[in-house]
Amino acid sequence: MDPNILILGAPGAGKGTQSRRITEKYDVEHVTTGDALRANKHMETEHGTPASYMNEGELVPDPVVNEIVKAALEDADGYVLDGYPRNLSQAEYLADITDLDAVLYLDVDKSVLVDRLTGRRVCDECGANYHVDFNQPEESGVCDECGGELVQREDDTEETVRERIRVYEENTQPVIDFYDDEGELVRIDGEQTPDEVWDDVQDAIESSV
Ligand code: ADP
Ligand code: AMP
Repeated sequence: MDPNILILGAPGAGKGTQSRRITEKYDVEHVTTGDALRANKHMETEHGTPASYMNEGELVPDPVVNEIVKAALEDADGYVLDGYPRNLSQAEYLADITDLDAVLYLDVDKSVLVDRLTGRRVCDECGANYHVDFNQPEESGVCDECGGELVQREDDTEETVRERIRVYEENTQPVIDFYDDEGELVRIDGEQTPDEVWDDVQDAIESSV
């Protein structure tokens, strides 16, 4: 059985960057609510479209997100879950539908997050992640992995980033405390270089599963 891994951290902590490496090494699926919602952002639900929340930096309502996660986890033989749960009610829902083998938390100070997010560029073909200063592609604007075009996410503007961090502190910080209190959380210094963080991530997975 491949492991079920949860990766937690603030927006910009490096979850997507590390999750990509986890999927390759441990042969698990990357289940990320952010990507799933972006792929369906104009879908009409009884709560409105995902985009109407995402563009403001607010959380998409739980029923919409819970359904996405349930379907994705049912199909996965081992996963790294990224971007969920973002509040305590999602954490309770998750506990009802799956068992986790490892819970990782990428710890990054708030002061670092705004620069990371406003400088982030993503490949619109394969989703690979770059940064204009901290993680540059070989050729500006072009993905090293697939040659796709690098774009800025609509919600990576400074105003929306600040709101996303506020929403994280209000709603998601209690989720971190919840797993910490359960004794399941492995805290990793997310301010190291991506390679150093990756070393700690592998150690944490291997000692947890
Ligand atoms: P998240 O998925 O947690 O929102 P990302 O993995 O997308 O975060 O990373 C946010 C930005 O920070 C990206 O531009 C990424 O290239 C950059 N980044 C990721 N990890 C590090 C790191 N350890 N040091 C510096 N920059 C990083
Ligand atoms: P992310 O790609 O993880 O930064 O998420 C981008 C946006 O998608 C967030 O700002 C939310 O609007 C929405 N979103 C992603 N995951 C969730 C979730 N678990 N619950 C509610 N909204 C979410």
